[in-house]
Amino acid sequence: MHELGIAKSVLEAVCSEVGKRAGARVVKVGLRIGELAGVDPDALQFSFECLVKDTPLDPLPLEIEFCPRQQRCPACGHAFCVADYETSCPKCGAAPTECIGGTELEFSYLELEET
Ligand SMILES: [Zn+2]
Repeated sequence: MHELGIAKSVLEAVCSEVGKRAGARVVKVGLRIGELAGVDPDALQFSFECLVKDTPLDPLPLEIEFCPRQQRCPACGHAFCVADYETSCPKCGAAPTECIGGTELEFSYLELEET
């Protein structure tokens, strides 16, 4: 399962970040996932919970922010969200437009608490 691998690397990144700060405890993790990243947020959430259960970090909430696909028109500069795979510019009709959002797969924040 694809999401399990991602959950694993997220958890590893969290652990290494916490390891750098003595006495800090992670209380919450935020992730940004784009529509085009090919990741199922629910499956990722579930995989993450399962992995965290066997660690001292449990319970560790994971907040997933879903980022819709966004395109920008090179002709008029208009940026828009894509609906129904229609990627031509809704303002001037130009096509093709360039993808500027929706491929995110990154941390949005890591909430730490000093102990
Ligand atoms: Zn346009």
